[in-house]
Amino acid sequence: MLNFRYTIAAAAVAPVAANSEAVPSAASRGPALSLLIVASLSLLVLGLAALHGTIRRRPATGELEALAWSDSLTGLANRRRLDHDILAHSRHSGPNAVIMVDVDHFKSVNDTFGHPHGDAVLRAIGEMLANQIRYDDVVYRYGGEEFCILLPNTSTDGARVVADRIVKAARSVTLPDGRHITVSVGVAASSKGDVCLAVETADQALYAAKDRGRDQAVTAA
Ligand code: GH3
Ligand code: MG
Ligand code: MG
Repeated sequence: MLNFRYTIAAAAVAPVAANSEAVPSAASRGPALSLLIVASLSLLVLGLAALHGTIRRRPATGELEALAWSDSLTGLANRRRLDHDILAHSRHSGPNAVIMVDVDHFKSVNDTFGHPHGDAVLRAIGEMLANQIRYDDVVYRYGGEEFCILLPNTSTDGARVVADRIVKAARSVTLPDGRHITVSVGVAASSKGDVCLAVETADQALYAAKDRGRDQAVTAA
């Protein structure tokens, strides 16, 4: 049995051995071929990885659109989106309420703890506001430390309940020195679908809340 196997092997090798100068032996071609295959596969994998990276770095159209409508610091809807939504809401004359929120003495937060900490406070306030609203209400970063909420199909009284909840919830945002954040809030409702005017009126009510000592909500008369 052993002898038979040896005979077969010897027969297989014999013709190659006879032409060993002209044709490289299977033994010498093997490693070169393997190297070539490994190198080709590596190049293919590297190429696919680079292609994948390029595709991943380029956001899809939907993502780009979402970025254009959102505020990069808080992730909330931005002012551009607010302007768009004001027009959309103004087309129907149902009751729309507006809430404007401004962080009190925010400059001193930046001055005392630095701008990055101020940014963290703005993110916390944004999150708090998003937690106070219904699914069809939208919170926007209006600019700086001011936020706006549009509440479709909501009366002034309904919006005032939300505003008072916001004043209370803001106090739970604390600073490293133990101080609480407070906010001033203005509430107004649109008449005849003029949401743009309602935003202005709510802003005036907000400044009335500042004049009355901050940390409170005021409903426009
Ligand atoms: P008031 O109670 O009257 O509203 O006082 P305030 O200090 O909150 O208002 P003021 O308008 O004097 O200051 C607002 C500050 O908000 C000044 C500005 O540097 C800061 N601010 C605006 N945008 C940002 C931001 O994106 N990040 C940080 N950290 N600060 C911001
Ligand atoms: Mg402020
Ligand atoms: Mg302000």
